[in-house]
Amino acid sequence: MIQFKKINTLQSYLNQQRMNGKKIGFVPTMGALHAGHISLLETARKACDLLVCSIFVNPTQFNDPKDFEKYPITLDTDIKLLASANTDILFLPNVTELYPEGTAQLEKYPLDFLEQILEGEFRPGHFQGVCQVMKRLLDAVDPEKLFMGQKDYQQCMVVQRLLDITGKRIELITCPTIREPDGLAMSSRNRRLSPEAREKAIGIYKTLEYINANLKKGQLDSLLKEAHTLLEKTGFQIEYITLANAKSLEIRNEWDGSSEMVCLIAAFLDGVRLIDNMVISK
Ligand code: AMP
Repeated sequence: MIQFKKINTLQSYLNQQRMNGKKIGFVPTMGALHAGHISLLETARKACDLLVCSIFVNPTQFNDPKDFEKYPITLDTDIKLLASANTDILFLPNVTELYPEGTAQLEKYPLDFLEQILEGEFRPGHFQGVCQVMKRLLDAVDPEKLFMGQKDYQQCMVVQRLLDITGKRIELITCPTIREPDGLAMSSRNRRLSPEAREKAIGIYKTLEYINANLKKGQLDSLLKEAHTLLEKTGFQIEYITLANAKSLEIRNEWDGSSEMVCLIAAFLDGVRLIDNMVISK
């Protein structure tokens, strides 16, 4: 695995590979890698000739500075994991490399309602930060295909919007959420849970399953209320439990019985913010 810290050396290497006919697949991450990240790399490995992964904890997407400070960094282990997943290239830029102009005054993207709901509502500025970093990473790597996790459902929609806005002809492939054996979605933030909180953390998955099992045509408010009570009982402080159209992410208070729906949850446990979602199977 070759490591690059600078955009220009990465680009000259990738240009050479492109001229040799290699199709580039890209998996952007913030490190503290787990089996969820590895599954993206495995999918990308099969679909492309040259596999690029980036590790960059992007300061502009953290609306809460404490969350940024506490973000886990496990670079040595990450490098070993990436090498064993047959990653060809690790891109490891620092803040100045990606934001030579500083981070105080950055461009804004027209994300419309996508940044006003759910994660956008509870993490103001978060998706602008995601777009700012993704624009720079995609300019640097210029992959054929981009692999991201369904775990961050709204983020995938925002990045697709970014690709449309910037006219980048990159295929976004959304990969399924990888879970712990008990159902908890894998996340770098799970490491911050105490052993007691870790046991309770499956409450989110159980709530998603409850909604999946009980969704019926018609009004959704009583089902959502039951789900709130269920999750609150396990000790979570809920930010949202929402049902939305799976394609558009428009929030629904009523289900027509046929359109594909997604349930999305964000909640704090023991001071750790967890998110998860489930596309409803009916
Ligand atoms: P992060 O390092 O958390 O920014 O995540 C990097 C990529 O990994 C994003 O596309 C995430 O959606 C994806 N990812 C994170 N957790 C999981 C998971 N449990 N299963 C599948 N993909 C994931």
